[in-house]
Amino acid sequence: MIILDLEWNRGYDQKPLDEILQIGAVRLDRLGGPITGVFNVYIRPVVHKKFDKGAKKLPSLRASLESELTFSAAMAAFRDWCGGDTECAAWGPGDLDALEQNGSYWDVPIPPLRPVCDVQRAFSHQAGAEGQQIALWRAVEYCRIPDIFDYHDALSDVVYTAMVAQFLTDEALSWEPPPRLPGKGKLCDRPFPDQPQRKIGPLPDPMQVLDAPRARLRACPLCGKRSWITSWYPGNDQEYLSSFCCEEHGRFLCSMTLSQPEDGLWQGRLTIPAATRERVWDYKTALCRTPHLCKGSSKKRHRRRSRCWGHRRGRP
Ligand SMILES: [Zn+2]
Repeated sequence: MIILDLEWNRGYDQKPLDEILQIGAVRLDRLGGPITGVFNVYIRPVVHKKFDKGAKKLPSLRASLESELTFSAAMAAFRDWCGGDTECAAWGPGDLDALEQNGSYWDVPIPPLRPVCDVQRAFSHQAGAEGQQIALWRAVEYCRIPDIFDYHDALSDVVYTAMVAQFLTDEALSWEPPPRLPGKGKLCDRPFPDQPQRKIGPLPDPMQVLDAPRARLRACPLCGKRSWITSWYPGNDQEYLSSFCCEEHGRFLCSMTLSQPEDGLWQGRLTIPAATRERVWDYKTALCRTPHLCKGSSKKRHRRRSRCWGHRRGRP
């Protein structure tokens, strides 16, 4: 397990790079355990001419400016140091993205780290302040850890993060917020019984399968209350995704996989999958594509819906 922190400079020019100035990391046997290894490098900035406000205030900026190390050499050393470790934690999101961005900018491989814990999110959860991005120094103060090192130095920040993690319960460290979907109605975060698959068709046209009332009238897996699906978003392969909402229990995902088994007719396999991260991600990706608006839903409903998604599509 590795805790990673980066300091970087965005500059003020058009070059799309959060240029990494320092990489700090510590190794632990497990999150909440003692530090067993340390990595720290300062990287000489060469891309942006100017430093942004945050970078100017970095306590170790001089060390980066005086460093001879290139990003590529730093990454070779970091890959060596990581060895076979792939689990990674950090204070807040964004560090792995920045690492990846720099890696592809310089065309240099980065270690295959995968995020397993956002310690900031775990801390907010345990402190009863879910959804708040609490500054590391506040968490350190809250945990009564003596703050003898500068903040915003990547190495001190990972050491602080490792110490804050020692104060967190296993429950907090493994806690994940329920996934959210755009649009009205939050995704139901309660487990529900496995829903039987349903076969739709065979029908001459694949869109007829998507339009079939038998496919579109869905019952809440928890209370059975019915509601209509009005549009389907193209997923991967022959899958279409949608969701429907129970006023009491929230939103549920729905998947339809089309196939053309024989004689040119189309049939669909309809499932109500559990809202795992992967499935929510698939659905969010599908929402960016042009939906199939079901025939038989009222026009008024279509207009309202397409305007809503159209507005949303413009945002990142
Ligand atoms: Zn319900």
